[in-house]
Amino acid sequence: MNYRGFATRAIHVGQEPDPTTGAVIPPLYLSSTYAQEAPGKHRGFEYSRTNNPTRQAWERNIAALEEGTDAIAFASGMAAIDALVRLLRPGDHILASADLYGGTVRLFERVWSTFQISVTYVDTRQPEAVDAAFQPQTRMLYIETPTNPLLQLADIATMAELAHRHGAWLVVDNTFATPYAQQPLTLGADFVVHSTTKYLAGHSDVVGGAVVIRDPDLGARLRFLQNAAGAVPSPFECWLCLRSVKTLALRMQQHERNALAIAELCAAHPAVRAVHYPGLPTHPQHGLARRQMRNFTGMLSLELGTAERAHRFLRHLRLFTLAESLGGVESLASHPATMTHASLDPEWRRRVGITDGLVRLSCGIEDTEDLLTDVASALEALER
Ligand SMILES: *Cc1c(COP(=O)(O)O)cnc(C)c1O
Repeated sequence: MNYRGFATRAIHVGQEPDPTTGAVIPPLYLSSTYAQEAPGKHRGFEYSRTNNPTRQAWERNIAALEEGTDAIAFASGMAAIDALVRLLRPGDHILASADLYGGTVRLFERVWSTFQISVTYVDTRQPEAVDAAFQPQTRMLYIETPTNPLLQLADIATMAELAHRHGAWLVVDNTFATPYAQQPLTLGADFVVHSTTKYLAGHSDVVGGAVVIRDPDLGARLRFLQNAAGAVPSPFECWLCLRSVKTLALRMQQHERNALAIAELCAAHPAVRAVHYPGLPTHPQHGLARRQMRNFTGMLSLELGTAERAHRFLRHLRLFTLAESLGGVESLASHPATMTHASLDPEWRRRVGITDGLVRLSCGIEDTEDLLTDVASALEALER
């Protein structure tokens, strides 16, 4: 059956009751190998690096959520991104969003640059600037929307059109938005990449990644790389993802409710210089956010002016835990300049606008009132 509704797909695709026992929850297949009836005659499974039933169920599920033809699961978000770069050849060029996940910049600059893959960075809010930045060797336009930590947006349909006009693929890192909020493949992207560590797994207990595609040939090339290079997730992690994704729609609704309430509180507070949240009508790209996204997620960032004020605010939070990562049911706070983006040089951070006074909040799914009380009292500490 072809389910239309997102939550129905999340709960059912890849997860039909087990045909041998009737188990409603797909079994966790820990087997590394599979009995063959005759040499080469098997039921689609021969060795678990190549294929595993639990992993296959998760891959089918995430493919359905992103409206792709196939998905390939990896051991981490970085392994998924690394596999994508392996589709390129020495001499090829990647054009990427300026405000990119720090680990992705590190992978591009410190790993792939030594294999003659060059990368330049451009403000993907500006289609004209993107258009002008393509080079004859550009094979990939690699974007994040919304970006981390400044929550800037790129128009996915326009980016796809530009990439294709220049003979390049469009890759969208959809970690921040999730397929519940936006489905880049339906807007023309060639690849969606995820750190499933974040919202998809959603409980801060899994590290994982995935690539979703709509062209079966590209899917086959990535599947080859998954097996050949071997950065596969364990069956247990895939099982946890399957379990978690069933509540993705509900979780995203509460993440958004909490983030919007906190964004509104902060926007009206004299201690806050600026609030970055696409769900606020004052966000410079709110119109695009409404067109492209159906949920504004639980991520927001605050400009508090100085490192000292940012640290004071973070010290006074009680419910928000000071930690890297995001997208879990519990609320987390971080200081990008010294945590998630510390590996970037200060000049780079300054150029993209990651100041020392910036604080990033990943709003969990706790009761809204409790989170509001926590943020309000930490802001009060800045007034004293
Ligand atoms: C966390 C993250 C990654 C890297 O994923 P890992 O699972 O930590 O390897 C990539 N992109 C974005 C946007 C992320 O937030």
